[in-house]
Amino acid sequence: MSRTATSSVSSFQEIATKVADGRRVEREEARWLWQNASDEELRSLAAVVRGRFHQPGSCTYMVMRIINYTNVCVAQCDYCAFYRLPGQEGGYVLSQDEVFRKLDELLVLGGDLAAFNGGFNPHLPLSYYCDLFAGIRARYGERLEFYALTIAEFMYLADHAKLSYADAAARLKAAGVRWITGGGSEILTEEFRARHSKFKYTVREYFEAQRAILDAGLKTTATMVIGFDETLDERLEHLERTRQFQDETGGLASFLCWTFKPYFTQLGGIEISTQEYLRHLALSRIYLDNIPRIRTSVLTQNEKALEGLNYGADDFDLPIEDEVTQKAGATISLDFERILSYARELGFEPTYRHVALGAVDAART
Ligand code: SF4
Repeated sequence: MSRTATSSVSSFQEIATKVADGRRVEREEARWLWQNASDEELRSLAAVVRGRFHQPGSCTYMVMRIINYTNVCVAQCDYCAFYRLPGQEGGYVLSQDEVFRKLDELLVLGGDLAAFNGGFNPHLPLSYYCDLFAGIRARYGERLEFYALTIAEFMYLADHAKLSYADAAARLKAAGVRWITGGGSEILTEEFRARHSKFKYTVREYFEAQRAILDAGLKTTATMVIGFDETLDERLEHLERTRQFQDETGGLASFLCWTFKPYFTQLGGIEISTQEYLRHLALSRIYLDNIPRIRTSVLTQNEKALEGLNYGADDFDLPIEDEVTQKAGATISLDFERILSYARELGFEPTYRHVALGAVDAART
């Protein structure tokens, strides 16, 4: 690979020295790394940053279920194979009992975390969500934790209920909600959203909502999806905005990046390679020097995602269901032991990370 020199970056060694000294990599340096560094070089820098937070050879995992409570959505993102418009055949809303059945199955499979992810459904009032979440707390107590909605759904819910983000967060908190994840971010640039999901709120609104969630005392995470038609600049801007938000708030519990599944979507295209995903994971670990937990996506990369542990990741989940990505081509295996043994073959000892307060575990959150 011939290396590209820019005015501000001259060599890998220069950047490696910065990272070793605990100094921050800037955007142009990240660009240089992406364009010039070998896989081995990216892995080595990611290992340095990972080592500030985690022991070599250690990693954590969870068994979790994504509960797609409704597929009715008015956002019409062109990369989505999951949604149905209101009134369209195949649209559904899960009842509380159907959700409970899914949660019971999750507990049987040894999981203690559910994540709710549906659509912008204009027929669901705030009371549907509050009753559902309060019902889960009442039925399961601390045996189970849940990520209630993504930020994108939260914003729609607040708008639809004519509430400020602060008031909506307070109402959900009163119903027992503790987490609203950073989902719905995909690529956080206004240009990307204008191209693919113009009804899914602006980047400015996304961070306003996330700040309100934190101010209300709820927890949140950062996410990213790559492999659409985003440019390198857009990826770097996403990482920059995420790092900046974390500098300002310290509120992002983790960062999870996964890959776009193009099948049956309007956008279409072909999947990016695992190698590209792993390189991006390493770059994320190097750039996001203020987020201790970097997660790798078994949901979209299957066991190959575990190679991400050598590219800076320290955590992953074993999903048992996610209709959104499954509809677009993701496949799920319940052979957890096989997946975990792959981590061991790579030299890592996975420890279960319980999120539910009722479970006994040192590696919580
Ligand atoms: S990605 Fe989410 S918001 Fe966009 S159309 Fe699909 S369900 Fe709706």
